[in-house]
Amino acid sequence: MGFFKNLFNNKQEPEFDLEKAVGAYLLKLPRCNKDVVIVDPKYGDTHYTCKIKVAAADLLPWAEDHAANVCSSDKEEQAARKALPLWLRGAQSSIDSASFLPHLMYEVLKVHILDFVRNGTAKTFCLECQSIVADVQIEKINKKGGGDWAWWTDVWKCPQGHQLYYQEHELRLHVHR
Ligand SMILES: [Zn+2]
Repeated sequence: MGFFKNLFNNKQEPEFDLEKAVGAYLLKLPRCNKDVVIVDPKYGDTHYTCKIKVAAADLLPWAEDHAANVCSSDKEEQAARKALPLWLRGAQSSIDSASFLPHLMYEVLKVHILDFVRNGTAKTFCLECQSIVADVQIEKINKKGGGDWAWWTDVWKCPQGHQLYYQEHELRLHVHR
């Protein structure tokens, strides 16, 4: 019986329906508030020792552009990328508190955090000063290297000198001779 069952059920895997996945993903989320937390110790990224939030309305143009132009091979992540502008567009601007990003949206957004700090849309909060940092000092220090090797450290500080971000980088170019 098993043989026949397999034979007649030999349908192909249904194609991944991105639109459906986006809808299902959005249904599971609480509505977005006025602001969105993009950096917080809660997200578990130990390079940051600060909190950063952006107004949903300020994040929206970037999210629309990003969803239209970037595609990832990870289907779940792509659904989150497409869902992000829809979620932000539905933000309740009257609710003056910040929403946390669900995991996949954070994955989509995290490599762009520096852009939001640089272009001034992000509000960075120093955990030491317990206040908003108007002017985040972004530095590249300990630059070393030569030829096919480079090493540096990215550091962000508040005007009081408290560290907000720290990451060491090492880059090796494998040149075939
Ligand atoms: Zn500080």
